Amino acid sequence: MAKQIPYKIYLSEDEIPKQWYNLNAAMKQKHAPFLNPATLQPCTKDDLRPVFCDECVDQEMNMTDEYIDIPEEIRAFYKMYRPSPLVRAYVLEKELGTPAEIYYKFEGNNTSGSHKLNSAVAQAYYAKKQGLKSVTTETGAGQWGTALSMACAFYGLDLIVYMVKVSSEQKPHRKEVMRTYGATVIPSPSDTTEAGRKILAEFPGTGGSLGCAISEAVERAVKSDSCRYVLGSVLDHVLLHQSVIGLESKAALEKYGVQPDMIIGCVGGGSNYGGLIAPFMGDKIKGKNNIDFLGVEPASCPSLTRGKFVYDFCDSAKITPLAKMYTLGCGFMPAPNHAGGLRYHGMSPVVSELYHQGLMRATAVEQTKVFEAAELFARTEGILPAPESSHAIRAAIDEALKCKQTGEKKVILFGLTGTGYFDMTAYKQYNDGTMTDYIPTDADLERGFASIPDIPQNK
Ligand SMILES: *Cc1c(COP(=O)(O)O)cnc(C)c1O
Repeated sequence: MAKQIPYKIYLSEDEIPKQWYNLNAAMKQKHAPFLNPATLQPCTKDDLRPVFCDECVDQEMNMTDEYIDIPEEIRAFYKMYRPSPLVRAYVLEKELGTPAEIYYKFEGNNTSGSHKLNSAVAQAYYAKKQGLKSVTTETGAGQWGTALSMACAFYGLDLIVYMVKVSSEQKPHRKEVMRTYGATVIPSPSDTTEAGRKILAEFPGTGGSLGCAISEAVERAVKSDSCRYVLGSVLDHVLLHQSVIGLESKAALEKYGVQPDMIIGCVGGGSNYGGLIAPFMGDKIKGKNNIDFLGVEPASCPSLTRGKFVYDFCDSAKITPLAKMYTLGCGFMPAPNHAGGLRYHGMSPVVSELYHQGLMRATAVEQTKVFEAAELFARTEGILPAPESSHAIRAAIDEALKCKQTGEKKVILFGLTGTGYFDMTAYKQYNDGTMTDYIPTDADLERGFASIPDIPQNK
């Protein structure tokens, strides 16, 4: 007889994974290498070491080890807020009247309020171990900066956060959380870097973008020996750290003999999604399952569904290595009415390659529909979701409603990446009925595509 599924499936502390899962090792066709923009040759570890910690560089380039040990010190930190619960959305299912089973992995149960702490802890630990004094980073909505502030406070590292200006104005409270943990927060673009000054001159009054904040943080890091840059998404080592989400989900479902038919996640830079799907996708590549993987992005920043699969810069000042990815162009700026997060122009090379190979699907959703789903979720499941996470909720609800039509008893797992307490400006717009949708025209996208580097590899 099937075991009754509890509302929350908890693992024990001992069941926190001892190793991360490196999806790169399982992929038959690896993603194209990063290119050094000066030489257009594949990046070497030496190219990356001035920017990132040594251990992260090694992990970034590791295409062979399927499992990589999680240091005991990092596991000890994980124990403060993990394992995270896997929840059966009984109340939501009932409200929808769907025969589908809906599960979500909730990563918002820590003060930073999102999954980002999983990688922040690892990166801060490796920086400290290498003897560095400080790290720099960018933050958009603020979750990454908050997560990293917590991790840096724990390990005694100085942190400078370049925060996308529009976010720092919309979310002054986020800034204070970071400062409470000891971080220095600078709205970006700023006049503290060459990249920032250049962007200010070109786009006076701009609200900034993640790409621009990245440029500033990288510039600041490479100008000092005892400082490195840390990134909260996109890169392979970040996806590696986030695989703890997928590994725990898999272990929890296996406890009850549950096999997901479909796994859904929101995609900004691709880290939570890449981490959630990692061990399941590894199995799919080996022919052990036929799970339908779906990445959900905002219609106003549709990198996968309308972007180009080419080499592009990861930042708007064009100083980072070139990554082969789905991109809207490093010069793409999402519309100012976009409140729902996930505003990055590019996409993780791993996720891009999976999409290109047809191993996953992608869909784009409009922000009013996203907030409608967020509201329904809050009222049924009780958790106030982050706007980013609500993209996945939207798609999960839509899939469950399709099952209502067809009578299919699909098992749907989605990633609930975080809580939305600091997103009340966006919720207010929604509640006031002033939130609007924006879908870029093809002409808008062409302007972004024009910023993609014109190099032989893109011909
Ligand atoms: C940062 C963030 C995301 C998007 O980032 P990914 O790297 O695509 O995972 C999604 N949800 C929340 C709550 C976030 O903070």
